[in-house]
Amino acid sequence: MKHIYDVMIIGGGPGGYTAALYCARAGLDTILFEKMSPGGQMALTSHIENYPGYEEGIDGFTLGTKMKDGAERFGARTEFAEVCSLTLSEKIKTVKTDGGTYFGKTVILSTGATPRELNLKEEKEWIGRGLSYCATCDGMFYKNKNVVVVGGGNTAVAEALFLSRICKKVLLIHRRDTLRATKVYHELLRNAKNIEFYWNSTVTQLLGIEKLTGVKIQNKDKHEEEILDCDGIFVCIGRRPASELVKEQLELDENGYIQADESTQTSIPGVFAVGDVRTKDLRQIVTAVADGAVASYQVEDYLSKKLFDYS
Ligand code: NAP
Repeated sequence: MKHIYDVMIIGGGPGGYTAALYCARAGLDTILFEKMSPGGQMALTSHIENYPGYEEGIDGFTLGTKMKDGAERFGARTEFAEVCSLTLSEKIKTVKTDGGTYFGKTVILSTGATPRELNLKEEKEWIGRGLSYCATCDGMFYKNKNVVVVGGGNTAVAEALFLSRICKKVLLIHRRDTLRATKVYHELLRNAKNIEFYWNSTVTQLLGIEKLTGVKIQNKDKHEEEILDCDGIFVCIGRRPASELVKEQLELDENGYIQADESTQTSIPGVFAVGDVRTKDLRQIVTAVADGAVASYQVEDYLSKKLFDYS
């Protein structure tokens, strides 16, 4: 006879492991699927200072491992496997992985989102040495320093404004001559005296030895490249939500995020979305963690209604 879990959680980032902790602690038969190491995007962050309780900060890999251990202490099971397909609309949901097929009454999706990269040579090797994809996370490391922000959308502009309050100077580099960002930001930008604009420009090279010291940019109307001195670069050119697996089954927004409000409920009953893959304003560890707790409450509520006979 096939085993039917109460809840199957896809993705072992902060949202997924918080959901696993709360579900397991509530006595639910809980399994979580993770394809790499626990922590998700967080595990790639060398120093996290905005997660409460760690006054000296903590590295993302350690925090991810602690979250996993905390959930497993209450009986949540982690299956290290890649999920290949999901069937969500049936009474019993199915998760097919490269290691086997699993069945459950509910599903929590916590597959996250990855930042779009500039696709520069050795870009990944600069992460933590001057390159970041999140000013809210890393801006404080550049207090009173000069930084570059790349992008022209709402995220880039919001991050540039955030950094302008911390840093000495912010150089905003956009590949076109008009911003994609909504008009409300334009006046705020004009009023920020320490933001300089580089229009029609793209970053072609990251410069420095141990730490970033500058970037090379190319203006599409000029022949020569220009070097801008800076201590950090924030790449804010959008994110890719990991919603590929569910795009034919769930409602997504125009950017591919799973439609779910603060309840984490998706367009299919018994299926919930938490963390960066869900539609939301602020994608942070604390907001993912909050989603995880909410989703577990929703799972309990869904199961308590005894809508189906699973025997
Ligand atoms: P976005 O709106 O897709 O903007 C991405 C920006 O990066 C665009 O300006 C784009 O240039 C540029 N870009 C893309 N690929 C690039 C590349 N390879 N090299 C250089 N530049 C590149 O993404 P987002 O700003 O992250 O926003 C995502 C969604 O969240 C949007 O719907 C946004 O409105 C929403 N959001 C809302 C708020 C808010 O305040 N309400 C805050 C943040 C985000 P082009 O303009 O030339 O395409």
